[in-house]
Amino acid sequence: MDEVKQQKRGTTKKRDDYLEGPEYFMAVAFLSAQRSKDPSSQVGACIVKENKIVGIGYNRMPNGCDDDLLPWSRCAEDRLDTKYPYVCHAELNAIMNKNSADVKDCTMYVALFPCNECAKLIIQAGIREVIYLSDKYHDTLEVVASRRLLDMAGVKCKQFEPKRTEIVINFNSINDNNPQKRCRTSSPVGGAAAAAASAAQSDDCDRK
Ligand SMILES: [Zn+2]
Repeated sequence: MDEVKQQKRGTTKKRDDYLEGPEYFMAVAFLSAQRSKDPSSQVGACIVKENKIVGIGYNRMPNGCDDDLLPWSRCAEDRLDTKYPYVCHAELNAIMNKNSADVKDCTMYVALFPCNECAKLIIQAGIREVIYLSDKYHDTLEVVASRRLLDMAGVKCKQFEPKRTEIVINFNSINDNNPQKRCRTSSPVGGAAAAAASAAQSDDCDRK
């Protein structure tokens, strides 16, 4: 009987290479960025409240505005022919897409340090913390002004240091036939004979 109890309790340990919260939220921001149609810059943002995602966004043209008609250029003689006056940044979209009443006291995970326009939105929305990955525009006017505003408003800004450089999503992994993922079913009848019989039997129970 003890043998069966032991078998039920099992000796399998939980995974230790699972995605931890901050990596998961930053990865969601990066995955969302893949939805962007901007040819030069794909940025995503993910808003988190008490470890739950309450908003996701990526840079895109405003709702109802045809992104085939609006320009995607970074440079043009006339600034009206660049994307800048039209495109909505990821932070704006994440805030507008929120599925909670508000985003007060939330943390925003975002690929790039926010520009000054997004800093204004972040502050006014009551977001308390910004976790960013890249600060490549650190010395631009937009980011200098942004830091000034976020700092004055007491929004904490922290650069994210990922533990891994990439996360691969493989749609075929769910069909993986790794024998380690298979388990041996236990028999409802106790005793050493049953345990031996169940050990000989191997069923795939790696399903949710
Ligand atoms: Zn911005």
